[in-house]
Amino acid sequence: MFKAKSNKDNQIISLKSKYWKDKRDDLKKIGKVDGFICQSCLKSVVLAWAAEPKTKPHFRHNPKNIDCDQNDESVEHTKGKELLFEYFQNRYSDVVDVIDIEHHIPQTGQIADVYVRFKNGQEWAIEYQRSNISLDTLNRRRALYKQANIKDIWIVGENLAKIQSDDTISFKRISQVLFQDTSFGKNCLMALNPDTGKVGIYRSITAINSRRYKSYKSFYDLDDIEFNLIGEPFGIRDVIDYKGYKYDFVHSGVLLLPQVSLQKSNLSKFRFLVVQEFMDYKDKAYINVPDELMKFIPKTCKDLDIDVEIVHSHENIQEIGQMHPVKIYPSKWRKRLNKINMEKYQQRADFSRWGYAISSLYSMATIESKTRWLESAVPFVRMRRYLYDQGIIDKLYDPADKIELLPLLNAVMKVLKVSSNDVIRESVKRGFISHMDIEVTGIFVIELLNKVGAICVERFNALGKGRIDLMF
Ligand SMILES: [Zn+2]
Repeated sequence: MFKAKSNKDNQIISLKSKYWKDKRDDLKKIGKVDGFICQSCLKSVVLAWAAEPKTKPHFRHNPKNIDCDQNDESVEHTKGKELLFEYFQNRYSDVVDVIDIEHHIPQTGQIADVYVRFKNGQEWAIEYQRSNISLDTLNRRRALYKQANIKDIWIVGENLAKIQSDDTISFKRISQVLFQDTSFGKNCLMALNPDTGKVGIYRSITAINSRRYKSYKSFYDLDDIEFNLIGEPFGIRDVIDYKGYKYDFVHSGVLLLPQVSLQKSNLSKFRFLVVQEFMDYKDKAYINVPDELMKFIPKTCKDLDIDVEIVHSHENIQEIGQMHPVKIYPSKWRKRLNKINMEKYQQRADFSRWGYAISSLYSMATIESKTRWLESAVPFVRMRRYLYDQGIIDKLYDPADKIELLPLLNAVMKVLKVSSNDVIRESVKRGFISHMDIEVTGIFVIELLNKVGAICVERFNALGKGRIDLMF
């Protein structure tokens, strides 16, 4: 265990705290003079902290085999608990008053593996379970948390959820009791392997027989999962599987609100205030989030990307310009989600035609004057007209018109503001083409426009007007 009480003044000493983590000599002295006791059973414990430690510094009972619930701990349990503590400590510090390990909860007399108290008063207890405790014990602990109005989040060890060679899963008895219905589906469970730091999220677990189960399962690094507003874990797979919220506006466009945070709205008509902080200014907008999307909001409420539909025309004039969320996800997942969407899109679209090229050229040509939130809300005909008027494209191409090499390279040079009489030679020089590949295929167009896009983004960022991340 990482915590004990000093016998001298009943002070609780956490080896995980900033204050104590490098005070070995002081602690050795306290141990010698006054001694430590276990905060659960109040019996004597000793500090295990060698000068050159092989294991992490910790306290243990002395004598060892004493009847105490803190004694059930294996090395793996300690490590898992530590990983979970670090997970919450690393990302929740802005939204909490307390994050603690082996936290003694006075109302229930329990010691939670990890405990979090948010600034709004809400409390979570995170329990990492690896041993087959009795059902009575489990139920009693859960009931106590419920009485104290503390949300208990149970994560099992990978030893309780073993994947078999035929892809079925053998869930040990205690993990079966911890299957939970969540916003993401029935019978869900999360398992953590402390040796690899990997998390398995199981959904829709169904029994094949009394020992074997099948389930949708996905695996992530612990750092790559999120807990939502009501403490349910989720991963990128959940976002991929969700098609997006459907509205039926007659005339609307889709756009992305990148890197925003959500605050509780002070207007009753709206649920949230979206805030985008950028250098020294803040963009703000009120939005409503449909119930169906609430489950995708991480508890931290920040570093989110929101795909919204913006209303262009509506019989109710107040609706015009309103933004309605379609998908919400952590910004760090955007590149991966885009890649997947791109792959899907790629199977349908022919990139050797002007449709994709025109929207890419437009977004690169206007990058410097971009009102970032509105970037994708421009209709195709307007993008085409703009590019034509700027002399970037030589014709008002239809989306389905086949691209030829010279007009495309000409457009690219114009977007980059390079004047050249010999665009082929210029393109070879810049590594856009080699003499060999001058055939216009879909892959060629995507790769070319990606390279040009990267150059444009780099130029924009160098202006110091803000930062744009590459989309693909
Ligand atoms: Zn004890």
